[in-house]
Amino acid sequence: METLSKIKVVIATVPFVDEDTPLATPAYLKSLLVKNDIDCVGLDLNIEIVNLIRNDPRKKDLLNFFYKQIIKEEIVTDITQMLYHYVQRIMSYNPTHIALSLFTIDSQVFTKWLTALIKHLYPDVIVMIGGPGLETLGARNYNFPERLKDLGYVDHYFVGDANDNFINYFTNGTTEGFDTVLVKQTSNAKHWITPNYDDYNFLYYRNSSSLPVVDSRGCVQNCEFCDVVAFWDKFQNLTADDVFEQMLELSERYNIYRLQFASSICNGNLVQFRKLVKLIADHNDSVDFADQEFFWHGSFIIRKKDRHSEELWHNIKRSNGFLYCGVESIISEIRIKLGKNFNNEDLASHLELGQKYDVPMNLLVIAAYYSESEEDHLYALQWFEDNKHYVDNPIKQVQFTTLGILEGTRLQKDIDIEKFNSELPMRNAHALKLKQKAEECGFTVRAFY
Ligand code: SF4
Repeated sequence: METLSKIKVVIATVPFVDEDTPLATPAYLKSLLVKNDIDCVGLDLNIEIVNLIRNDPRKKDLLNFFYKQIIKEEIVTDITQMLYHYVQRIMSYNPTHIALSLFTIDSQVFTKWLTALIKHLYPDVIVMIGGPGLETLGARNYNFPERLKDLGYVDHYFVGDANDNFINYFTNGTTEGFDTVLVKQTSNAKHWITPNYDDYNFLYYRNSSSLPVVDSRGCVQNCEFCDVVAFWDKFQNLTADDVFEQMLELSERYNIYRLQFASSICNGNLVQFRKLVKLIADHNDSVDFADQEFFWHGSFIIRKKDRHSEELWHNIKRSNGFLYCGVESIISEIRIKLGKNFNNEDLASHLELGQKYDVPMNLLVIAAYYSESEEDHLYALQWFEDNKHYVDNPIKQVQFTTLGILEGTRLQKDIDIEKFNSELPMRNAHALKLKQKAEECGFTVRAFY
């Protein structure tokens, strides 16, 4: 292991992540390393590839490479250029270490090719990979990184709560917590510091003005289909003061006032959330110029009626909040059974208050949940009819997905997979009808199927 002064680390995201906002991991890890006097560059290179293929007429073929490793002859040159572009961008900093961050499993194909090329051209550079994209979060089955390590493409991999181990590796040379699937949620709050986006080029993003801040991890709920709780043992959050301080620091450093809370839920700790929203709202009231007001968005738990007071709604409005609300099934009983503790009366109250205080929100709906009956499907169609007065205020968009079974989840353990698969055509047909119905009712719809 080199002495600290000789270490140079480049941390980079890997495509393909279909996101148009900065990915936070390189900025967080850079911040931690710099604080420990380690020379480091943190790059979100994924966006360069996203931009490259956004309007390419062969986009479908290119995506088939990233998602399924299908390589048509027409795209061989493009893929080769992308790989060399990545290597050049990374190696232009003369790193001793390269850490690649995989946000989802859709980054695996490119990672495999990229690490092979790096090791071929620069065998002495230490290559590490990490992140939830090594496998699905809850699966804890890491064939992919183990295989890359066997092939000699990577020297180390790390998963999950790697902050402490990552720092220890560079400062002490220890590899505890590396190359293992048994990672505990150990890192302490002192490592949750303000991300360092100095190496990001904000002009690359169409939503350039939205910076991620990780305010919490884990979740206070336990939805059967979700792998967040399978992965994080417990919910941990920063205090309102800490989050607000990071917001101030980021806005001063980058002159950007739009933040995204890059966590599974922003209102998991209601006491801290109320305080944070008030801090932001008061800040917004106190500034001299409108462009100094904060705007934020985050994933928001709908709770039982009256848990979110009118004062809170008022402050969310004043703080310029935008909420992403997981409704999942439109049917109360099914929603509660899958792990979300609110019924349609609570949902109605949430929408009414959202409308009263003009708080914009997107609803996230799993269309045709596997346990919904034909009758439930008809109810869901009618629900959109009955709620079309919420079009635009407060519901800006309805985002539909279909149910997938993630490894390590409660659903995976309990599901009758044969039945689930045999009913797929019916669920798909229901999902399409629901999307159509929401559109007919005037909602702006985004369907991920
Ligand atoms: S509320 Fe969201 S993050 Fe939490 S368990 Fe449910 S789906 Fe997962």
